[in-house]
Amino acid sequence: MKKPIIELDAIQKYYGDYHALRGITATIREGEFFSLLGPSGCGKTTLLRTIAGFEGLSSGVLKIDGRDMAGVPANKRPTNMVFQSYAIFPHLTVEQNVGFGLRRDPRSRDDKARAVAEALAMVGLAGYGRRAAHALSGGQRQRVALARALILKPKVLLLDEPLSALDKKMREQMQVELIKLQRQVGITFILVTHDQEEALVMSDRIAVMFEGQIAQLADPETLYRRPNSRQVADFIGTMNFLPATILSETPDRIEVEVAGLGRCAIDPAQAPGAVTGGPASVGFRPETLTILYEGQVANDRETGGTVEEVVYFGDMTYYDVKLDGVDQPVRLSMRNVFGRPVLDIRTRTRVAWSPGALVLFR
Ligand code: ATP
Repeated sequence: MKKPIIELDAIQKYYGDYHALRGITATIREGEFFSLLGPSGCGKTTLLRTIAGFEGLSSGVLKIDGRDMAGVPANKRPTNMVFQSYAIFPHLTVEQNVGFGLRRDPRSRDDKARAVAEALAMVGLAGYGRRAAHALSGGQRQRVALARALILKPKVLLLDEPLSALDKKMREQMQVELIKLQRQVGITFILVTHDQEEALVMSDRIAVMFEGQIAQLADPETLYRRPNSRQVADFIGTMNFLPATILSETPDRIEVEVAGLGRCAIDPAQAPGAVTGGPASVGFRPETLTILYEGQVANDRETGGTVEEVVYFGDMTYYDVKLDGVDQPVRLSMRNVFGRPVLDIRTRTRVAWSPGALVLFR
């Protein structure tokens, strides 16, 4: 396993009385693409700024590359930050912007020019060096900001919502470019985002944060398939919930009665969260339920319901179905590979499901 580059141990941060970080413990590894994901105000930017050294800690230990960062100012840390607002100088040229960080570097002018050209090529801006920064598009400015950060060869690049000012198409393009860039340079990237899709697409691992704490730290697939709480499940993609009653429990299986689905056995690995003592429920993703065509048989289990809403999305169709015995409809999604089931609102339908796709929250 790669060695730790950032070690956070019981980090607390107060702004006056306000408790912004409430005991953050995590290890980020060398070469990892790591994301801090959470709703506005959960403390992700505060945590990033703490790592960068723009904010002090109230308590806890932060190590970067094995060194305690207490008392180490931002400019002496092996980190560099790329901001949402680009923070490039509009009156300078692209190469002046990128070379800005090297102004105190003892290298010769030629060596610096080579480094600037290399950094520009890395972000896909070869040949743009003489352009005026103010004449660039949003995506190009973001690349300049990236090149300027990378030219200093930090061990860790900190990215605070770097793509949020871009339109959807550009953002998706830059996401792919950032992943490629990170693989190419091999340094650790820590990305702050409130966009769960962005985090899932880009990250090796994600820390989901709520109210100053890490609620779950895992790879994207685990977060998606085995969220450890309803709150995480709800924040990542769409999750349906149905009330459930736990009938019996052994180390190998949990017998549950699920409203609208009936009785089934759940593997304890599908109950990854802590026992809260609240009412139990099961969650499942929209794509794990399937509308059955006339004459089609379910691979596993089957139940009945009434279609309440059909929403066509081109490649996908969403169906809101009220399962028999449940008041709230659940959302199903199906890929329109072979056309789509023609279902009118308020028609009866059969639905295939599988106990293996359920997650139990209790
Ligand atoms: P956003 O996505 O909106 O930036 P965030 O998760 O990054 O949210 P932070 O910016 O880390 O959240 O802020 C966490 C909390 O700390 C917020 O309630 C914020 O108001 C508060 N906060 C942040 N900076 C300061 C400050 N300098 N002084 C006082 N409170 C602050």
